[in-house]
Amino acid sequence: MAEFIVLGAGMVGIGTALALQAQGHAVRVIDRRGPGEETSHGNAGVIQAEARVPYAMPRDWGTLIRYGLGRSNDLRLDALALPGAARALLDYYRHSAPSRLAAAVPHYAAIIGRATEDHGHLVAAAGADHLIRRTGLGEIYLSERDLDSRARDADDLAKAHGLAWRRLTGDDLRAEEPDLTDTPAGAIVWNDSWSTPDPAALVRAYAGLFENRGGTVLQATVRGVTQRPAGWCVTHDDGQLNAAHLVVALGPWSPDFLKPLGYRVPMVRKRGYHGHFDMKGGLTRPYVLAGHGVVISSMTRGLRITTGAHLARADAPPHAGQLATGAAAAGKLVALNGAVPDSRWQGVRPCLPRMLPMVGRAPRHEGLWFNFGHGHQGLTLGPTTGRVLADIVGGRQDELARALAP
Ligand SMILES: Cc1cc2nc3c(=O)[nH]c(=O)nc-3n(C[C@H](O)[C@H](O)[C@H](O)COP(=O)(O)OP(=O)(O)OC[C@H]3O[C@@H](n4cnc5c(N)ncnc54)[C@H](O)[C@@H]3O)c2cc1C
Repeated sequence: MAEFIVLGAGMVGIGTALALQAQGHAVRVIDRRGPGEETSHGNAGVIQAEARVPYAMPRDWGTLIRYGLGRSNDLRLDALALPGAARALLDYYRHSAPSRLAAAVPHYAAIIGRATEDHGHLVAAAGADHLIRRTGLGEIYLSERDLDSRARDADDLAKAHGLAWRRLTGDDLRAEEPDLTDTPAGAIVWNDSWSTPDPAALVRAYAGLFENRGGTVLQATVRGVTQRPAGWCVTHDDGQLNAAHLVVALGPWSPDFLKPLGYRVPMVRKRGYHGHFDMKGGLTRPYVLAGHGVVISSMTRGLRITTGAHLARADAPPHAGQLATGAAAAGKLVALNGAVPDSRWQGVRPCLPRMLPMVGRAPRHEGLWFNFGHGHQGLTLGPTTGRVLADIVGGRQDELARALAP
């Protein structure tokens, strides 16, 4: 048994803390906010069993030009962001080459494929079943042609990875979702995916489980870490903590945090927004609105509309365009009665160019471990990469461990 401090109480930090604790380690977590109040709060709330292929950068000129000209709501690109993001974007472009992507897929599929089972254990132990919908993830298509084309891809993906999916006509969809106000061409539903109406509450429930099992969550801002002969000293607002081992699970803040230790980790910071809208009725599952670059999902505060990526400088002001376009598209399918006050949010998907999270031993420091860079699927993957890291700490050295190694 060893002592660990986990930096960060998002889904990844709490998932890691629980997994280390389950292997008999003494674990403390520290975060400047409460558990799950940052990126792990603001996402679309989907536990994405279907996401076996990570998000690669499109490499065809047509799509890149559409992005460059601002003709897609999936991605907004600020020219001012380019100089600072150039290295990460070039790496991302390189790793998105078909052969490299194909090499990453088995590892990504291996961790995504375990995610609902790993959540399932925690949900049961935390008594959090009321925070989980096992109703799938839908994709709504407005044109028959787009639906046909996606159905062909979905079938290939399903066959390759053993996924269950179904195709719905517009009428089938309205029978399942009586609060839709219009009939689209149809939808695809990925049956194995789950969702939560309150991602932050799910992280809080897991954090409560960790504390009930003897763990500690401290709320304080970490100012720095120092390596000592006996391990690590964490300096925070109210004092210091010491432990033999330190895990960095700071999501989008991880690269900046690691700079003073000499690590340069390029990250593609895909900013995303959400807003809540008052909706008449509700939806049984989240839906991607194909062609509009948003996900809509009934959540505790109303219909949450979550946007695609905005590549912006960290200090760039929020841009309302993607959310407004998404809300206009959603308003044609469901009855929206305006925005919920104070419900706008922005955060950053912590995407690494190689499209796999960094999980494992830090290359140059004893007792330092990384678990960050979960990009588009960190809510899904937190409990799973937490378990993988705990196994690596215990000596796991297989192909997956090598693929995720920092
Ligand atoms: C718009 C959007 C939609 C998304 N949709 C989905 C989805 O549907 N499904 C899915 O699986 N994923 C989704 N994601 C991705 C997912 O939200 C992230 O990958 C995940 O939340 C990352 O978790 P994390 O624990 O690594 O980071 P975080 O949740 O951000 O946790 C990091 C923690 O570090 C803390 N911290 C930072 N600096 C310090 C410091 N100096 N001292 C103390 N604490 C510090 C922060 O307070 C924070 O709590 C989405 C992301 C976005 C932006």
